[in-house]
Amino acid sequence: MPSPQGISVVPAEAYIYQDKNMPRPIEATDEVSLAQALRDYRIANGIPVGDPATDVAVSIASRLPQYHEPPPHAVSIINPKTLRDRVTSWLSERFAGAHAGALQLVSDEEANRRAEICARCPRNQEWRHGCPPCVNNNERIVLLMTQGQFTGFRQVLNACEVFGHELNSAVKLDKKHLNDSGKEEAPPQCWMREEK
Ligand code: SF4
Repeated sequence: MPSPQGISVVPAEAYIYQDKNMPRPIEATDEVSLAQALRDYRIANGIPVGDPATDVAVSIASRLPQYHEPPPHAVSIINPKTLRDRVTSWLSERFAGAHAGALQLVSDEEANRRAEICARCPRNQEWRHGCPPCVNNNERIVLLMTQGQFTGFRQVLNACEVFGHELNSAVKLDKKHLNDSGKEEAPPQCWMREEK
């Protein structure tokens, strides 16, 4: 995944996959090849194929160094300018918890209820403008946080411009992982305004 300067934003060692069913890791030169190699491995060994593309994306997200290190410029976190910046900050703040499996999720029913409200809300706004590598990395974090399990509103959920959270993952999180500061700006029907 080259950046505009031709510099790879995903380290080469990220294209390695291994899980508990495998005696040794599979390596590839890019994400698509790695997913295909994982699919071939599972078929050849009689392992349920599952969703290799999601498994690989989640694995890569867990290895991206920028989500393990403090941000180089704290100002960009404190004072983000664009919705994409805010979403990036929001996801990176929750990445460690997602990677450790420490994030508590709500029921599928509750996630869908929230998602339906957000889908109709004018504060649900597109955030994937510019910087394709940043967007791709953020999408991987979303896959990690949701484990690839989305609500029925995935195609219409973007980001919330009130809270700066990525909506596909936010609707699934227990409220203790969400910051409701500024909720006075949210529409009356917003689920973030509810007591529980
Ligand atoms: S304001 Fe509330 S309902 Fe609207 S998009 Fe944000 S979280 Fe969803």
